Amino acid sequence: MTDLLIRRHATLGPYSPLFYDEPLEFVSAKGVWFTDVHGQRYLDGYNNVPHVGHANDRVVDALCEQARTLNVHTRYLNARVVDYAEALLGTFEDRLERVFFGNSGSEANELALRISRQLTGATGLIVSDFSYHGTTIALAEMTTGLKTQEGLGPHVRTLRIPDLDTDERSADEVLAATLDDLDAAIASLQEAGFGVSACLFDWLFSTEGMPRLPEGLVTGIADRVRAAGGMVIADEVQSGFGRTGTHMWGYQRVGLVPDLVTLGKPIGNGHPMSAVITTAEVMDAFGPRNEFFNTFAGNPVSAAVGQAVLEEMAEKELMERARDLGTEAKVRLEEYADRFDFIRTARGAGMFLGLDFAVDGTPAPDLTKQVVEAMKAKHVVISRIGRDDNVLKVRPPLAFSAAELPLLLDALGESLDEVEV
Ligand SMILES: *Cc1c(COP(=O)(O)O)cnc(C)c1O
Repeated sequence: MTDLLIRRHATLGPYSPLFYDEPLEFVSAKGVWFTDVHGQRYLDGYNNVPHVGHANDRVVDALCEQARTLNVHTRYLNARVVDYAEALLGTFEDRLERVFFGNSGSEANELALRISRQLTGATGLIVSDFSYHGTTIALAEMTTGLKTQEGLGPHVRTLRIPDLDTDERSADEVLAATLDDLDAAIASLQEAGFGVSACLFDWLFSTEGMPRLPEGLVTGIADRVRAAGGMVIADEVQSGFGRTGTHMWGYQRVGLVPDLVTLGKPIGNGHPMSAVITTAEVMDAFGPRNEFFNTFAGNPVSAAVGQAVLEEMAEKELMERARDLGTEAKVRLEEYADRFDFIRTARGAGMFLGLDFAVDGTPAPDLTKQVVEAMKAKHVVISRIGRDDNVLKVRPPLAFSAAELPLLLDALGESLDEVEV
């Protein structure tokens, strides 16, 4: 073990996860390139937080300038914060016209749950059976995609999200069976006296491995939850900010009309901030009954950063770029899926891409791990996801450009060649 790793274990503890068998130690980054402690450069094909690029000049300048001018909580009038609220809300449909600011994705989801609980008078929740939405107690009790001691809360029901790419049944059968499961979950919550407060999903189902869904599933889920009195929450922490290339928000891609939308990770390009977006009706029902105040959320420095992210996205046309590069990348991934027996399908949209690895129909996480390590040896950073950890995850900063894409795809092709099945 290196000295730094020993000191890290002695302070942060040995439980805080690290990537790779031998962790990487970066000392700087610019755009989509890291530099490690040995002066070696690594291409970032994984990180979605530095959305408009690591150490982006516009964002850093905005942050420094505002921090030098004024940083204060939201109990004083400040134009920067209102300017940013208007700009952010301008990226949503007209009906979603109010924002609560927060500091993390967890905090945004916690507030969305609190609002739905108050407005519906119910406590029951529906989540996917392989998902992650944050670190608070309420969210730990509905975490299914990673280890938590809490276990599922008695008021939580899970829904298995199907995948047409790996399911033998027809799309119609899968749709009907999944909606039957949902009906049973809703009935069970009602019988137990919890009622239905909300469903909370990342509607791109990133943690689940980006499954291919039957037409009508997403709207079918939302309709049933609403008919049972519940609210529909869209967790955009992963799928938002143009990631999918065709839509600013992941829920728009699947034709959903959410009541509450939660934003995180890319919103501040690394500066800690988040938001809950909702309707005027929802805010007007919650606001008068709660003196809701959040010390750091919506401060002028965060607002300046958030604004710079939106401006950079617009000026560099990053969503359009994600669409074009994503389309190009998907073609190559599909070629790889044809060429290598152990690849079942190419997945994803825009700059959120994956390859599903399986041998004789059995998910093959050991092979995905080989590729992640082989890519590291070629100085490209990626990862893996899915309930079996068998889906390769390529999700670079949206600042990724046409110059870097071949580097990533060539390294991937070479890494796939090296896999020992
Ligand atoms: C990371 C994540 C969260 C939690 O966000 P934090 O900022 O870590 O609290 C919530 N939902 C999804 C989908 C995430 O990926």
